[in-house]
Amino acid sequence: MNKQCSACGEVKVRTDFPPRSGAQCRVCIAAKSKRWREANAERFKQQMRDYHAANRDDLLKKKRAYRLANIDVRRAKEREYTERNYDKKLAQSRAWNARNAERLRARVKAWIEKYPERRAAQQAHYKARRRRGTPPWTRTEDFAEIYALRLRMTRETGVEHHVDHIIPLQGEIVSGLHVPWNLQVIPARQNIAKYNRFDPALATGTG
Ligand SMILES: [Zn+2]
Repeated sequence: MNKQCSACGEVKVRTDFPPRSGAQCRVCIAAKSKRWREANAERFKQQMRDYHAANRDDLLKKKRAYRLANIDVRRAKEREYTERNYDKKLAQSRAWNARNAERLRARVKAWIEKYPERRAAQQAHYKARRRRGTPPWTRTEDFAEIYALRLRMTRETGVEHHVDHIIPLQGEIVSGLHVPWNLQVIPARQNIAKYNRFDPALATGTG
């Protein structure tokens, strides 16, 4: 059943009018409220501000729920954006690195001077990982203690010490892992003789 709009005079289908009410069609109602908003811009803005202030918690909750529900969509979009702009981003970050090379080098150098044991742990960790001796779940910081011990032993004895794998990473029969519990601190190979003479505990032993 059709109906004539009292504003524009057009004859339209029932669904073009809001349910129950109205002699005016949706298009005319929307136009009318747009005219009102434009004529009362300041008042409209204030109304919106009041509404948001009054419903702040509800609106935030809705926003969070929406973000949560759309997290996969958003991640896919981000991935897609990254892939599309990969070359551009790479060039940008290379340019940034080049511009800041001095500063970056200084920062890395300062870090190494401040945390030599972390640096040593990191290097050994990467080396072992390259040789596939390090399980992926290990973290560099798990190794910091043993490398700190190595530095301390070296400093206190005056003899270079190394971190050694109790079961070698590439042994003939079994291969050990680069994990904290497979590590020990020993004098560096070329120093073992010197260390034996030096170490009072070993000097009193039978060997
Ligand atoms: Zn109308």
